[in-house]
Amino acid sequence: MLVLGLETSCDETGIALYDTDRGLLADALYSQIELHQQYGGVVPELASRDHVRKIIPLIEEVLAEAGVTKADIDAIAYTSGPGLAGALMVGACVGRSLALALDIPAIGVHHMEGHLLAPMLEQTPPAFPFLALLVSGGHTQLIKVEAIGEYELLGESLDDAAGEAFDKAAKMMGLAYPGGPNIAKLALDGNGDRFKFPRPMTTKPGLDFSFSGLKTFTLNTVAKHVDDNGELEPQIKCDIADAFELAVVDTLVLKCKRAMKQTGMNQLVIAGGVSANSRLREKLEQTLTSMKGNVFYARPEFCTDNGAMIAYAGAQRLLVGQHASLAVVVKPRWPLQQLPALSR
Ligand code: ATP
Ligand code: MG
Ligand code: FE
Repeated sequence: MLVLGLETSCDETGIALYDTDRGLLADALYSQIELHQQYGGVVPELASRDHVRKIIPLIEEVLAEAGVTKADIDAIAYTSGPGLAGALMVGACVGRSLALALDIPAIGVHHMEGHLLAPMLEQTPPAFPFLALLVSGGHTQLIKVEAIGEYELLGESLDDAAGEAFDKAAKMMGLAYPGGPNIAKLALDGNGDRFKFPRPMTTKPGLDFSFSGLKTFTLNTVAKHVDDNGELEPQIKCDIADAFELAVVDTLVLKCKRAMKQTGMNQLVIAGGVSANSRLREKLEQTLTSMKGNVFYARPEFCTDNGAMIAYAGAQRLLVGQHASLAVVVKPRWPLQQLPALSR
């Protein structure tokens, strides 16, 4: 089954063609980062308009790359939530109507299920059941995954998501959006030992997270070290980046360890933009090795938003006959637990 995947939930137009027999045939991504950078964050109306501009040319691009035509597509998967309503509408309208025109089924995919299943596209995919850490721009969740659609939420952030914390801390340090990769780069030359950043909610039991305190701590640290022009010395900037990254990574690793002990599981999947972080990957590799377990993650470009994960997740549901009605439905808020199981 050849599935066209469309991702337009936020500021990336991601299009891919996934074949259930042959694997990923093509994928293309257009990021709107530069468009939104001047505003310091994603402007929803501009995001929707840019998706409208890019979606058709990108669909044509992946068809050409895969050497197929529209008539070869068997089904269409589009992100129907969660995300920005107007941005989601673009992918859902194009996906639903193209499927109607081609007389093929379509399915609305949950963006976080897409992230969660992205590591399945790699050489050594994880096998069910496993524990999952979803760490992205909008989510920080620990989930016990029995199978596709069988998700038990074990813990989540009570305030900011991990990626959001990276982005906000970066902004305070005068770094561009998205903050995660920029902080990670500076941290390589930093010595975080000079600062004692907190590891929020690690001393109390439980699997929830909180990252807003780290944000305040960053703000205070920056304020203490800026010069008269409000600038940070380059080395101090690197040191703050290092201390901040280590605090987030330590906190995430500790909670993963705790969740594995609590569930008795030793297979861990990390997904979402922050799972691209090298330090997080390394520390979890070490931790899982010592627990005789394994950690799985997607290649960096499939950790952040992309069409391949949507095509893959949609394909798994389409294969068992699930599909959307003719109505164009988007769900800007949509808890993962509301998804149906993958029963035939
Ligand atoms: P959601 O998936 O929750 O709806 P989103 O789609 O905006 O949110 P993603 O695209 O999954 O989020 O990830 C983007 C986030 O990942 C940003 O917050 C970015 O700073 C963070 N990120 C990307 N690369 C890294 C990295 N190397 N280290 C840390 N954070 C990173
Ligand atoms: Mg994004
Ligand atoms: Fe995402």
